[in-house]
Amino acid sequence: MQACDLCHLLVGEPASVPPHENLQASGIGAMPNRCKVDSRWRCAGCGAWMYQSTALGEPPNMWRMGGPPPR
Ligand SMILES: [Zn+2]
Repeated sequence: MQACDLCHLLVGEPASVPPHENLQASGIGAMPNRCKVDSRWRCAGCGAWMYQSTALGEPPNMWRMGGPPPR
């Protein structure tokens, strides 16, 4: 799968940078104690999954690209 430029540009940016125009909210990730780890976004353009980490994410407070979220 080839991610689009908009997704590539967001990877490694601080999580304070807003999602780009083709990203659609797709839920959140949380730890068993319900602390939020990230917001999940799916790109309508290229289909990439993007993760907007909180301070509890890995890496913290940063955008990363990943596979589909586990169920
Ligand atoms: Zn994309």
